[in-house]
Amino acid sequence: MVFNASIRYLHERLTIDDVDLESIVNEVGTPAYVYSLARIRDNLGRLKAALAPVHACLHFSVKANGNLDVLRTLRDAGAGFDCVSGGEIFRALKAGAAAEDIVFAGVGKTRAEIEYAINSGVGWINAENLGELAHIEAMAAEAGLQAVQVALRLNPQVTANTHPYMATGHGAAKFGLTCDVIRQVLNDQQRYPRLDFAGIHLHIGSQLGDSAATLAALDKLLALARDFPQITTINLGGGLPVAYRFGEVPPALEPLAAEVARRLKPYSVLLEPGRSIVADAGVLVAEVLYVKRQAGQTFVIVDVSMAELIRPALYGAHHEIVPLRQAYDETISTQVVGPVCESADVLARDRDLPPLKPGDKIALMTAGAYGMTMASNYNARPRPPEVVVDGDRWWVSRRREAITDMI
Ligand SMILES: *Cc1c(COP(=O)(O)O)cnc(C)c1O
Repeated sequence: MVFNASIRYLHERLTIDDVDLESIVNEVGTPAYVYSLARIRDNLGRLKAALAPVHACLHFSVKANGNLDVLRTLRDAGAGFDCVSGGEIFRALKAGAAAEDIVFAGVGKTRAEIEYAINSGVGWINAENLGELAHIEAMAAEAGLQAVQVALRLNPQVTANTHPYMATGHGAAKFGLTCDVIRQVLNDQQRYPRLDFAGIHLHIGSQLGDSAATLAALDKLLALARDFPQITTINLGGGLPVAYRFGEVPPALEPLAAEVARRLKPYSVLLEPGRSIVADAGVLVAEVLYVKRQAGQTFVIVDVSMAELIRPALYGAHHEIVPLRQAYDETISTQVVGPVCESADVLARDRDLPPLKPGDKIALMTAGAYGMTMASNYNARPRPPEVVVDGDRWWVSRRREAITDMI
């Protein structure tokens, strides 16, 4: 769903919960990210309900949205956190997460990050190479720790049906360890006296449309785990898909949950959803700067670019675009482009939109995941503010960067 119970037109104004979006941007300006905390709570709740048979412990993937109010909201709702850097661990702790509710993943953890994770007491480290295991063992010894919980990340050599940049489980991907290496490590426990290899981790990609690849990967994992009774926990990663287009309905989770529950009965299960919790809870508001008709096309130039939202340029991703004031005019084919000096800086190609004019405000929908966290200062553009809405209240959670912040 692109519109939902929290983000929809009310009296012809795009509204987040009880707040008219235009009243927010009139104060904070554009571009601005705006998130609905109610929608985030709803998404977590619906995910928990759909996955109830799995009894999974949910760890929100901080790289999807690292806003502190978003993280606090999820912590209050009982979520843990999946972090992929020292910076993300810091954010999760800052948001009040208990260290044991944090899992730390990543292909290339630095020594400093491993040390920070160990000294903070994170619940799990998801390891992806042998050199890393040696570092963790050495640092556990230094810190005098006896049993650091480690999950070994399996590369199941399964290709997910998603954008190639979002597939992480095929044999040629840099992620994870092969089955054989994981077997060797588990048979070699005496080399790692301070590590407790109690889990296997799996994450084959994001925006996973069909569950067949997930189940194939899970079956490979189970064939491995069955030989090692010390494995008590299976972490299935994230990747649950969301709808980015009008009329698109993501597949129901219940059938997948039933299959997973049947297979994982003897295990504790962790999941690391990111996108599915925050994507449709956020919008990015832009203002139309200019309209230019050229070479038979209509270019609408807005104050949002690939620096603030890189997904269209990076993945060819589709974000619906709607005006803040509901329009009923006949639509025209439009190129919505940003100001950045790159031909890839196109937010929407050949999109049928109502006629727009300078000063109009539009929303890029479903921008709550991998939006602000992927924003950059390219072209020396200050990153936008993040506003959160909670019922009829709203506040600036993170202020707009100033140009002086960038030097
Ligand atoms: C990115 C990532 C996730 C979250 O993926 P979503 O598609 O946002 O749910 C979970 N686990 C790991 C290891 C990741 O890298």
